[in-house]
Amino acid sequence: MNIVRVALDVPLPRLFDYLAPDSDESDIGRRVTVPFGTTARTGVIVELAAASEQPDNKLKAVTAILRDMPALPAEWLALCEFCARYYQTPLGEVTSFALPPMLRRGKLPRIKKSAAAVHAAVSAPDLPRLMAAQQAAVEAILGTAGFHALLLHGVTGSGKTEVYLRAIDAVLARGGQALMLVPEIALTPQLEGRVAARFPAAHIVCANSGMADAARARGFLEALAGRADIVLGTRLAVFMPLPRLQLIIVDEEHDASFKQQEGLRYSARDVAVWRAHQLDIPIVLGSATPSLETFHHASPKSAPPVPPSRGGDSGSPLRGSGSLTGPALGRPGGGTGRYQMLELPERAVAEALPVVRIVDTRREKLQEGLSAALLKGLQLRLDRGEQSLVFLNRRGYAPVLACPPCGWISRCQRCAANLVVHLADQRLRCHHCGFETGIPCACPDCGNVDLLPFGRGTQRLETMLAERFPEARVLRIDRDSASTPKKWQTLLATIHAGEADILVGTQMLAKGHDFPLLTLVGAVGADAALFAADFRAPERLFAQLMQVGGRSGRAELPGEVLIQTEYPDHPLYQALVDHDYVRFARSQLDERRIAGFPPFSFQAMLRAEARSIEQSLVFLSAARGAAEALADGVTLYDPIPMRMQRLMTLERGQLLVESVSRPALQAFLAKWMDKLYALKMPGGLRWHLDVDPLEF
Ligand code: ADP
Ligand code: ZN
Ligand code: ZN
Repeated sequence: MNIVRVALDVPLPRLFDYLAPDSDESDIGRRVTVPFGTTARTGVIVELAAASEQPDNKLKAVTAILRDMPALPAEWLALCEFCARYYQTPLGEVTSFALPPMLRRGKLPRIKKSAAAVHAAVSAPDLPRLMAAQQAAVEAILGTAGFHALLLHGVTGSGKTEVYLRAIDAVLARGGQALMLVPEIALTPQLEGRVAARFPAAHIVCANSGMADAARARGFLEALAGRADIVLGTRLAVFMPLPRLQLIIVDEEHDASFKQQEGLRYSARDVAVWRAHQLDIPIVLGSATPSLETFHHASPKSAPPVPPSRGGDSGSPLRGSGSLTGPALGRPGGGTGRYQMLELPERAVAEALPVVRIVDTRREKLQEGLSAALLKGLQLRLDRGEQSLVFLNRRGYAPVLACPPCGWISRCQRCAANLVVHLADQRLRCHHCGFETGIPCACPDCGNVDLLPFGRGTQRLETMLAERFPEARVLRIDRDSASTPKKWQTLLATIHAGEADILVGTQMLAKGHDFPLLTLVGAVGADAALFAADFRAPERLFAQLMQVGGRSGRAELPGEVLIQTEYPDHPLYQALVDHDYVRFARSQLDERRIAGFPPFSFQAMLRAEARSIEQSLVFLSAARGAAEALADGVTLYDPIPMRMQRLMTLERGQLLVESVSRPALQAFLAKWMDKLYALKMPGGLRWHLDVDPLEF
């Protein structure tokens, strides 16, 4: 009796058995079409079995085993199984996600014949001589066999990419494949260009969600067949099958986009580390501002005493209070020592880091939110024919429209959020659910016609700057102005051609672009993140400001960064002035250690959404009840409404569970999931579990 166990994309945590008389071992890892209920589905065969727990007379036969492409290798299946286990997601949902949509549907792209790649790197004399720290990094990556994780820490321009390319070169020369993950689709063309120029004869495959179906499926098949030398892609590329994989690189490893926020809520960075471990190969995590998780792993177990920082500023209000940092909480400054830290302390190209200045706005009357210092800096750049960037991480004209006499404000009907004023196209928009409506000419409550936009977004800054500097060409770069890849490319080209003087932009501009004419960055409205409820907000703010500052002064022109703030002495800003990521990271880690936050604990979040908040909370309470008997070494918090309670008319609640031990949390989650699937749910209620959640 030949039975195949099939992973099907259905929300049930189990495999499905089918009769397949002509199947054999070689079919494990093949796609298969099967009858399911009244429909046909495509899944992946993950096991063969001699007998099924279901009675034989109930078993249906497969429709067809698809033998039109090589079977997915055991390593790939193991990777999917790990994700299913770790993220508590049915295996069929994982395999389905990990396959490109076309292959998932049981189809195949038309295959173009490509010549076998011959490895030939650019000849040595054309390459820059590595600096000592780069050389040491390359040796550390390649010098040791087997699994090791390395954190390559260096500011923008310190030569991290050059290190990646050298390591890839060596791997290709040995006949291996390399996988490189980057955070954004927008960055891949640029990086692809650089990689292609370095390895003209190598076969480079891109993988991201913006690609056409057929192209993505073709890339997957080329990787599977071992024809791809280098795979370059966003988070989903971590699932590319690579039979000769010898090196994984995760660039900008701190970037939140490596964590998927829906469906399979995986962290591509974490999955990549697991994969490297499983394959016994090196993995390089690179960043100017590593995630605190990674930095913690790359810090030795007992760090040397933290040197007193400038001006006696401890960086942490809690440092020095010895009674709070007893042995149970771990040694201050000590990490896990699991990763090797590689520092690139200088910029590869001659010029210095930008000068970072804090602009104290407490006693100043700002002009449309801009300080005299920033306005002066902008004028100076205009006079010199250089570019400036005003960084404001809020798009739209104003965050809300208000009627001061009666107190009406523009609210989304579907979410617990304000409607943002978009003056350019005369719309009010919800940035959470996409709801939009025209700007009313009068207050819907009292009829007053003098409605006022409150606060400031990029559009308003753009308008104000254009009025203030009539001779300047002002260019706004945010998700509205760069809504398509083509528009984005056009904007970038305009900047590069020097056809813009003042850029107004969100974090879109912060990542991975060289703007040789840019010499001034002004950051406005940054303070909001200092006191946000999310404990990761300061970490994100620091990374953003460091990144956006790194855009300035890359070429011959020195850069300047002005940060407007009402908290000029805040340790976060002071660390930025000193370009001292390590001090910032240690002070944050000290606070997290004392508060028991990650990386000193491990978390999972159960979220529920329903038509009423009561339904969501009742379900979560039941889930908590079911957890109580299982929660060995795990803390269960109380169900609470989410901070943004209402989204798309659904009312959302959350339940946090936490443990100082990852294995304890994992063991608990596995048992808990069985109970959750068995819980009674009101109609319309949906829930999901988010392991290692990034958003609160
Ligand atoms: P990062 O990835 O850290 O931002 P890059 O690797 O892109 O840094 O290096 C920044 C610039 O310096 C690039 O133009 C690169 O070609 C150049 N570069 C890198 N390493 C060296 C070196 N050893 N000597 C000269 N130029 C270098
Ligand atoms: Zn909404
Ligand atoms: Zn009114």
